[in-house]
Amino acid sequence: MTESNLSLPEVTRCAFCDYLSGRRPFTILCRSDRVAALVTREQRGVGHIIVVPVRHAPTLLDLSEDERHAIIDTVALVAKAIDEAFERPGIAVWQNNGTAAHQTIPHVHFHVAGTLPDGGTEFGEVPELTIDETDRIAAKIRAGSDHLC
Ligand SMILES: [Zn+2]
Repeated sequence: MTESNLSLPEVTRCAFCDYLSGRRPFTILCRSDRVAALVTREQRGVGHIIVVPVRHAPTLLDLSEDERHAIIDTVALVAKAIDEAFERPGIAVWQNNGTAAHQTIPHVHFHVAGTLPDGGTEFGEVPELTIDETDRIAAKIRAGSDHLC
């Protein structure tokens, strides 16, 4: 695989790899051998989930075909689960590659979030939820969905 031209954020450790390995506590909505869905502590919508490959891959350009397929399946299943759990009139999906595109963690991730009561999603400051709070969001999303990853 050739190197891309994307500028990546510099970090000492990958936060998503730390969450997936259990090194740092985080709410994992679901995981398979290829893909995982995490409940972010920075909720920018109503039911805001982050879908990642289990393997550390910096950007969209670094994914295998199998990973691409597994990820988009989970993005769509999570969107459906958010629809059922939170009954929002909109669901936003976004994904950034490279610091020039505002990527902050160099492990490719898709955001999936139900829209806020006033519409849209919050891109400014949001409070950081506790793990108990993100566990409750996961429980609500899982309630009507037996398979997400
Ligand atoms: Zn990683």
